Amino acid sequence: MSTKTISYKKDLQIKEEYDVVVVGSGPAGICAAVSAARMGARTALVERYGVLGGNLTVGAVAPILGSVSKGTLRDELVERLGVPDCDEIGATQQCHDFEKAKRVLADFAHEAGVKLYLQTAVVDVVMDGDRVDGVIISEKTGLKVLRAKAIVDASGDGDVAFYAGAEYQMGRDGDSLVQPVTLMFTLQGVEEDALTCIGEVDFVQYKGERFLDYTTRLCKEGHLPPYSASVRLFRTLVPGERLVNTTQANGIFATDSDDVARAEVDLRRQIDQVTEFLRKYVDGYQNCYVKGSAETLGVRETRRFVGEYILEDNDLRVGRRFDDVVVHKASFIVDIHNPAGSAQAEGVPEEVTPYDIPLRCLIPKKIDGLVLSGRCISGTHRAHASYRVMSICMAIGEASGVTAALAAKKGVNPREIDYKEVQKVLLDRGVNLFD
Ligand SMILES: Cc1cc2nc3c(=O)[nH]c(=O)nc-3n(C[C@H](O)[C@H](O)[C@H](O)COP(=O)(O)OP(=O)(O)OC[C@H]3O[C@@H](n4cnc5c(N)ncnc54)[C@H](O)[C@@H]3O)c2cc1C
Repeated sequence: MSTKTISYKKDLQIKEEYDVVVVGSGPAGICAAVSAARMGARTALVERYGVLGGNLTVGAVAPILGSVSKGTLRDELVERLGVPDCDEIGATQQCHDFEKAKRVLADFAHEAGVKLYLQTAVVDVVMDGDRVDGVIISEKTGLKVLRAKAIVDASGDGDVAFYAGAEYQMGRDGDSLVQPVTLMFTLQGVEEDALTCIGEVDFVQYKGERFLDYTTRLCKEGHLPPYSASVRLFRTLVPGERLVNTTQANGIFATDSDDVARAEVDLRRQIDQVTEFLRKYVDGYQNCYVKGSAETLGVRETRRFVGEYILEDNDLRVGRRFDDVVVHKASFIVDIHNPAGSAQAEGVPEEVTPYDIPLRCLIPKKIDGLVLSGRCISGTHRAHASYRVMSICMAIGEASGVTAALAAKKGVNPREIDYKEVQKVLLDRGVNLFD
């Protein structure tokens, strides 16, 4: 990579001023925007793709996993998506319909009065000292500024926080490796009673051994891509269809465009290899064919920003309660897809005791005007491996939207908002925060 630089200076038009700007429309961002708009905040949602949803749509990720206490926007959204019974671990294998989800999310945002900026990437920030005063967006007509009283970073990678210079961590302790990326795809032509399996979570037996042992053996013999021993096959709403979460590229840092391009080429090839494997070695898949694949590779882990509190592994283990709880009874296994091999990094995924996420995990250290949301909030690599699932990100999103809207209304920084005020809004909506 060249180290040469050029100086670039330009006056940018301030396109619009908002109470709240939410960046990223994944499970966290969509809930953040609707949440803020329902409080009367003038809210914009900025999304780099032409469709809302992040992993929920363009990433073709399903089922919606994890659970939180009752009454959050997550409940409303899964109802609207038509999968009200999707369960914490995915045992019901209730995958939502990605096409339907695109419409549902657009309606969800529109009904709340959220102003949408689609095919619009945030490429930098405008700072006023340590405060993020606005985001620089890239439109077909050039770079513009959206100013906001409060900004929610729901970009997954925490791009806004990064551009603002917030402190972050990446990967696991020791070698800083992150979880692998995966390109999801859909198969049709599968016999209805053919097996389904959630990789290392299920103990499904196949031809006298655990299916995972069977696939691991065949993977070692070269019949599957090197790190794709864990074959995860989810039933969808369409008969004869399976959603496949199996391709895997390790050593990819998805904030590096060279890595993204490398993974794209590798994973598209892996789709054919995995399909061929299923046709040859798994009963009921002989006639399967690829129906479609995600529009973009799925990224599990990038930056985790350091907030006023870092959610610790032990907080999940013991089910810690916090005075400033904004997400209650979050629950999902510590699911670490192996950053340096196949299947799980540490053998079996660790169970958690339903835990709280405090408001402080959403408030970045030192940087003002900004609320973290979704998978980039403040937590350890292991804690992130639990709260990154979509149900929990939706609830984080709702809380981040409330915090930003309150900050905008009062004209203060999000860190100055009393957690009891955030809790009051959530409780008034019927969210269970304390049992
Ligand atoms: C392969 C894979 C399988 C998974 N399986 C499951 C599963 O079965 N169930 C489950 O519940 N969870 C699963 N997860 C985890 C879950 O999908 C994510 O952790 C979750 O979607 C994170 O939500 P988010 O809103 O924080 O981010 P995302 O869903 O990543 O959304 C971020 C959004 O921000 C946008 N964005 C990013 N940068 C910018 C920018 N600079 N400007 C404008 N927009 C921007 C993106 O385009 C995207 O729409 C899986 C993840 C992967 C990758």
